[in-house]
Amino acid sequence: MLLLFFGGCSQTELVETIVTDNDGVLHRILEKADKNTLVIFDCDEVLITPTDTLFSPVNEDNYKKAIQYLNKKVGFSRADDILIDIRKRYKFRLLNNGLPKIVKKMQTRGVSILVLTSHWTGEFHNIKSVEDLRKNELNQFDFDFKKSWNNVDKIVFYELPTKLPRYNVTRYPIFENGIIFACNLDKGDVLQKFLNRISRKFDKIIFVDDKMKNIRSIERFCKKNNIEGKCIQYKKAELFNKNKANLQELERELNKIIDSHGFN
Ligand SMILES: [Mg+2]
Repeated sequence: MLLLFFGGCSQTELVETIVTDNDGVLHRILEKADKNTLVIFDCDEVLITPTDTLFSPVNEDNYKKAIQYLNKKVGFSRADDILIDIRKRYKFRLLNNGLPKIVKKMQTRGVSILVLTSHWTGEFHNIKSVEDLRKNELNQFDFDFKKSWNNVDKIVFYELPTKLPRYNVTRYPIFENGIIFACNLDKGDVLQKFLNRISRKFDKIIFVDDKMKNIRSIERFCKKNNIEGKCIQYKKAELFNKNKANLQELERELNKIIDSHGFN
């Protein structure tokens, strides 16, 4: 079990961060959430994770090599087509089987629950709204994040335009049905805009993410807004075996996929 504490962690500390891969530690923190708490989950590597990791972002080394190889072989636009195709074929599973029930219990207690993902929005290749991929991936599991936000309609954050890397197009973060798609912007900045738009106030934030960069962002948000923060860097995904492949294996698999797209 991995459990580290940052900061002074004294009673007077406004923001406290822990690092853990242990479900029990996470569950005990979530059990304490009350009506005035906003609980925020990252999606990738916190709620769900792909089961086939050969080319998935979970296996960072392979994923980077695959992108480089595809870019070199077919150019970045076709490479993106192929990556989307690979992603559509991913099967996902829960990272923590207890979470759907725990989320439901918290919602019954009146706790507000939000998903804050870095995922992009808008049109991409042949997909009208790329955020639909993420929605479909989450829909397979027994979560209902809309439940806490029945009175909040879809929000497009036009005040936060951002450019999709390598494409000269502008994208905007979106809130819909309890999920914020942050378009890779600073999560604290997007959360700030979201809370500015809704009428609810919270005394405390519990934030769960696998990336320290995002934890730091929400720590800054809490300090700036004088909100008590409990951040958990949840590293359970690191416990799973990664499907390591050598470069030749990877290239062989990628060549098959390139052929199936008729790009050779
Ligand atoms: Mg993540």
